[in-house]
Amino acid sequence: MSLLDRHRAVMPGWMPVYYGDDAIEIVSGSGRHVTGADGRTYLDFFGGVLTTMIGYDIAEISDAVRRQIGTGVAHTSTLYLIRQQVELAEKIARVSGIPDARVFFTNSGSEANESALLFAANVRRSNQILAIKNSYHGRTFATMAVTGHRSWSSSSLSPLTVNWLSSADRLRGRMAGLGAEDLLDAAVDDLREVLATVTAGDVAALIAEPIQGVGGFVHGPDGLLGAYQKVLAESGILLIADEVQTGWGRTGEHFWGYQAHGVTPDLITFAKGIGNGFALGGVVGRAEVMNAVPAISFSTFGGNPVSAAAGNAVLDYVLDHDLQGNAQRVGSILLGGLRSLDAAIVGEVRGRGLMIGIEFVRPGTTEPDPAATLRVFDRCREGGLLVGKGGLHGNVIRIGPPLTLTEEEARTGLSVLTDAITATDAEAHIS
Ligand code: PMP
Repeated sequence: MSLLDRHRAVMPGWMPVYYGDDAIEIVSGSGRHVTGADGRTYLDFFGGVLTTMIGYDIAEISDAVRRQIGTGVAHTSTLYLIRQQVELAEKIARVSGIPDARVFFTNSGSEANESALLFAANVRRSNQILAIKNSYHGRTFATMAVTGHRSWSSSSLSPLTVNWLSSADRLRGRMAGLGAEDLLDAAVDDLREVLATVTAGDVAALIAEPIQGVGGFVHGPDGLLGAYQKVLAESGILLIADEVQTGWGRTGEHFWGYQAHGVTPDLITFAKGIGNGFALGGVVGRAEVMNAVPAISFSTFGGNPVSAAAGNAVLDYVLDHDLQGNAQRVGSILLGGLRSLDAAIVGEVRGRGLMIGIEFVRPGTTEPDPAATLRVFDRCREGGLLVGKGGLHGNVIRIGPPLTLTEEEARTGLSVLTDAITATDAEAHIS
């Protein structure tokens, strides 16, 4: 039996696997490249969903992890002092932009958001949360409740009372076609309307991704979260920024996604890239909120010595090598190249830094074209390039390479993408 058949026989049927019957088993990696069991080497523009943030086989990170394992202590318990964890918390508090910040470590983004929601609900004594349509915040009970995406939010039996704000989608829906100023006004009107008419009583928090990741890299204009926060502050409602995909310089211009919005969140959640593959997530937030949990809270593995060693090495690498600056420089090559394409199936190219979405539509309309998206996705793979797919309508190609991507690699990937889009666009005109 092939590995794919064995996977299908033993894993639950709802687990997504890319490339269908031609699924890839990645067996090794180096830099921005991975090699599959099929013997082919691919340039990786998705980094395992923006998780391999520095790249594969990076000596500084592997050495830090090996050194920790070499002590013989992969883990004992967070009930004992863990030097790696304290050092990482100090660094994260320092770069968070939150004065008097406290840090709590988890093993994943879902757990980080689950914790942030718990902290906010406790300090506000309310289980009412505002979330944004087309969001993704995780796969636990509470985080699914604030995930505004039917494909991923499989339960309506929510422990939270959730009210929804419109997503700042410029192509379709309530905000379609609006320029930045009008969109900001419409978003604030939407928030005021929800607060006035739908929610009963006090709301604990708004949870928002500065750029919606799984939702297809949809983002509003600069200042959107700031415009929201002005209204939220009138009632003491907290702001949780889910930076699981957007943190650590990914967006180029800023270290955190929230910084494009002239706002400081009360809580920031992080995961994915900070471990460069090791399980590490957490919440950094204002001490007043973080300290408000009225019981002992604990995570067996959250911030364990091996993950924390990886986290320290990753954060040092990001800062020492100015990966934020690299994301800005190399990202602008990709954004510029993609925006200059003359293809009627491309409805929008959007994003910041090394987080870029290409939305595909039927020519001359804003109607989503998931079939064309799939052809571009498959053609990229045939051309030796791994990219992501996503969006509410399955019509967005997502690009989120390791932040160490070189200019040459960016141009190579851009050329594969250009060929894939051009060939698919030609078919759209024939049919
Ligand atoms: N928040 C965001 C923005 C995410 O993209 C994800 C993962 N795709 C999560 C939370 C959940 O993270 P995890 O899969 O580590 O639980």
